[in-house]
Amino acid sequence: MRALRLFEPGNVRVVDVPDPVAGPGEVILRTHATGLCNSDVRVYLGEKKAAAGVIPGHEMTGEVVSLGAGAEATAGETVSVCPILCCGRCSFCREGFRNRCPSRRTLGYDLDGGIAEYVRIPAPIVAMGQLLPMDRTVPSHLRALLEPFSCVLNSIEELGIGAGVSTAIVGGGPMGLLHLIAARAYGAGPIFVVEPEAERRAVALELGADAVATPDEAPTLAKELTGGEGFRAVAMAVGFAEAMPVALGVARRLGRINLFAGFPPGSSHVLDLNRVHYDEVKIFGTQNAPFHLYAKAARMIPRLSALDRVVTNRYSLADSASAYAARLGKAGLKSAVVIEP
Ligand SMILES: [Zn+2]
Ligand SMILES: [Zn+2]
Repeated sequence: MRALRLFEPGNVRVVDVPDPVAGPGEVILRTHATGLCNSDVRVYLGEKKAAAGVIPGHEMTGEVVSLGAGAEATAGETVSVCPILCCGRCSFCREGFRNRCPSRRTLGYDLDGGIAEYVRIPAPIVAMGQLLPMDRTVPSHLRALLEPFSCVLNSIEELGIGAGVSTAIVGGGPMGLLHLIAARAYGAGPIFVVEPEAERRAVALELGADAVATPDEAPTLAKELTGGEGFRAVAMAVGFAEAMPVALGVARRLGRINLFAGFPPGSSHVLDLNRVHYDEVKIFGTQNAPFHLYAKAARMIPRLSALDRVVTNRYSLADSASAYAARLGKAGLKSAVVIEP
């Protein structure tokens, strides 16, 4: 089959590799689409580790085409994948946090992922119900949003976003816009998006943000929008420490700030501890999502037509290496490698 390989940071190429074969309990998926994530780009830049020679891609959807002995899956079923391979027995797994398992491995980083014609799904992923059935009529580039949208739902729920919760989103890139779509679905408002690029601010307004601002304008406008208080929920959908003052500047007393994006290694921020003590601002992070939110995301995705606006760049498998270059250049929003629409 044809597949993209990550040889080393900065070097990805489409090559011929042997077709994967399903071992006991395993499944082979024929890939329909695989999304490219900012964390894939961070691997490409050498900021985040992945196994040398791995086939990247952890945001995949496809069709079950072959089953190994004893695999509990249905041939012909269309599924999206929760790509986390966990032990199932540690205290984190037992509490439902497969994403925090100390022996977690992830398809597309530690094991071959979805930027390929076929993907081998390890037995524990199959056995633990992590192939989520999806309606085949939902376009594949949207089904491939299962993993990123689950991560966003984790952020939304940890932030306590719900009906009438004032929400600020720092960063109007693909993940910021997915936060906007999810926050609207949860009934949040007003919703405020802070983003330096005019084009992205325009998309945020189009997708229903109540207001947008540049980082410089943000503190003043945040006060105007919230009667001087600031926002109850603040999602940091950008991974650079320089954005922390913006998040702190728009957060209300008792507000919650989630560091949703990963930072370059060694990032730090000097915090006025009295924001935490006297203002009771809660600062925390989320990474990936507990499994029940994958199941929720799988039910929500077919109902959210706005998601289509976020996946702007689609590539064939043959052109998949250029998807990285486009993400580096910030052209468009989210990218997906589409093999079968
Ligand atoms: Zn992702
Ligand atoms: Zn575990």
